[in-house]
Amino acid sequence: MRIASVVAVLVVLGSLAGGQNKDKEQNQTPGRVQVIRCGALIQPADGTVRRNVLVMVEGERIRDVVERGTPPSGAAVIDLSDHTCLPGLIDTHTHVLLQGDITAADYDEQLLKQSVAYRAIVATRSVRRALDYGFTTIRDLETEGAGYADVDLKKAINNGIVPGPRMKVASRAMDVTGAYPLLGYAPEVPVPHGVQVVDGPDNARKAVREQISFGADWIKLYSDRSYFVRPDGVLDDIPTFTIDELRAIVDEAHRQHHKVASHAMALNGVHNSVEAGVDSIEHGNYITDADLKSMAEKGIYYVPTIYVGEYVAQGRAAAGAKVWLEMIKIHEDTFRRALKAGVKIAFGTDVGGFDWGIDPAVEFPYMVKYGMTPAQAIRSATLNAAELLGMQNDVGSIAPGKYADLVAVKGDPLADISVLQKIDFVMKGGEIYKSAPR
Ligand SMILES: [Zn+2]
Repeated sequence: MRIASVVAVLVVLGSLAGGQNKDKEQNQTPGRVQVIRCGALIQPADGTVRRNVLVMVEGERIRDVVERGTPPSGAAVIDLSDHTCLPGLIDTHTHVLLQGDITAADYDEQLLKQSVAYRAIVATRSVRRALDYGFTTIRDLETEGAGYADVDLKKAINNGIVPGPRMKVASRAMDVTGAYPLLGYAPEVPVPHGVQVVDGPDNARKAVREQISFGADWIKLYSDRSYFVRPDGVLDDIPTFTIDELRAIVDEAHRQHHKVASHAMALNGVHNSVEAGVDSIEHGNYITDADLKSMAEKGIYYVPTIYVGEYVAQGRAAAGAKVWLEMIKIHEDTFRRALKAGVKIAFGTDVGGFDWGIDPAVEFPYMVKYGMTPAQAIRSATLNAAELLGMQNDVGSIAPGKYADLVAVKGDPLADISVLQKIDFVMKGGEIYKSAPR
């Protein structure tokens, strides 16, 4: 990627690919005024478009958004008049410490042969890529055996050591004995696990306390496994935690003002998670109408992660698990029913489950193919995602007072959502990380 400045007067701040790190003091001067001239600006709240807009940025925040204004004299002007501007995108389901795991062997290799230090170094490339794709905020939903490396990565980004998005992190996640890889090794051989293994309500509470004490923002749990399609078409599973264990996890997290994300792909996992009052259902390939109704009533978010299902299906089917192919159609049907039921949907991709070389914005066209309007899909990755993360006062729209997190693209994403895979300008907190070609 190259940095070619579009600006009249501008400090171009470091290249991501070159790995040049910006000197925080030099480039985060409080009060420095920049003006971004947007040809069009999408407002995710109602999907409307404003034309010829000036976005005034002061320091790391947006000061004002005006139509057909004149930039204050002396201000740096960033000319994006041939671009459409949007708020920085938000991916609410990532794994920066994972580099693809189509098969069990891919996964085991990373946990058995790569040190946490090495995985953390590779993860600095993942977060740089996320930013480069236009994702200025992510919720990273567990490290897959890399301990609390996500907490450190977040700290390094916040301290200006490596470039990356704003992060909410889940650290180790949890599952019960015998449910999460690594699995299938001889009982005499101690192997690492991709989660903290937890059994019983008391241990579950203790694990929540421990993870929060070491820096977890979110608690992530796995509520089901071993999927199969019943003759009546229902995607069934083996539930992992008991309802008492789930309630203990949710209660303990909520007592400490933290939220819970539940990996729940099928009948029992979803139902138990909804009953226990988790804050988001991850994947949700199959959800009953009754559970969708409860989700809408309780305000539980649905993070559908459509693309990753297709990505892993062929490989997993070839390895003998045909169910992954069958799940694709079931997922589409669930997504359409969730939309109709008025469930809040937040954009999430599970990137890391697929290669970080693939732009996670590949998810958008799937959401539109499955029934969303482009405006709804954009809202899911901006305002809705910000609300799920409790960050709606800081990110999710281009508005006075919020962080200057802004991306731009040529073309009209409301007419062709796939252009979001070609973001060519990225600003986070008033700093430019990617600059559009002239
Ligand atoms: Zn995931």
